[in-house]
Amino acid sequence: MRFASLGSGSEGNGLVVEAGGTCVLIDCGFGVKSTVVRLARLGLEPSSLAAILVTHEHADHVGGVPAFAARYDIPVWATFGTLAAVAILFEGMTRVYAFDSHERFAIGELDIMPFAVPHDAREPVQYVIGDGARRLGVLTDIGAPTAYVKACLSGCDALVLECNHDLEMLLNGTYPYSLKQRIGGRLGHLSNDAAGEILAGIDTSRLTHIIAAHLSQHNNTSELARGALAGALHCRPEWVGIADQETGFGWRDL
Ligand SMILES: [Zn+2]
Ligand SMILES: [Zn+2]
Repeated sequence: MRFASLGSGSEGNGLVVEAGGTCVLIDCGFGVKSTVVRLARLGLEPSSLAAILVTHEHADHVGGVPAFAARYDIPVWATFGTLAAVAILFEGMTRVYAFDSHERFAIGELDIMPFAVPHDAREPVQYVIGDGARRLGVLTDIGAPTAYVKACLSGCDALVLECNHDLEMLLNGTYPYSLKQRIGGRLGHLSNDAAGEILAGIDTSRLTHIIAAHLSQHNNTSELARGALAGALHCRPEWVGIADQETGFGWRDL
């Protein structure tokens, strides 16, 4: 099993997961051309994707999905709530499938476990994806950790974890008050410290990869994100990977 990122942040997201010949893309916030280029960097053709799994309807996650899926005839999976929120984008497309946020399902060799998260969208989910032996947990776009989220991420072999902002930088930054409230609120985004608290509160004994994702370009730095996660894991900061907006990160083997 292996995974890689096409890019991560408020300008667009995309993560590929592959095992046993099945490759899926989680979210696509990039235009068709850009997505093809980003996949090619990882040695992937659009035709090698078995499905696109959507987390929620915000543009940095779903914005590129309809055009890319239609162009390359790739099936799309999203929760009933997400599809209800963006039904018009998928009008006329036949291979669009809805699932319940608590419903586990399989795509080829991959076991897909969605889990509900608190975020300001209709029915947002994140995913734990496994191949029967190993499990990757993905968590971005969540305002505050819940006991359920921690239980879902506990015992994973790899984690891609949102480190959206440093609280001090957000509070002292130039964003309008209402936006600061939204980002820092229960249905907004995860701070470095909150991400560290999640790590400190779950079973990380199997963890071989940890990557900080969805970093704000205005309210965070790689160093601060790395420091928070490394502090929680008692590991060296260099061991913590960063999912960059432009380059994402290369393949990680599990
Ligand atoms: Zn986002
Ligand atoms: Zn979002």
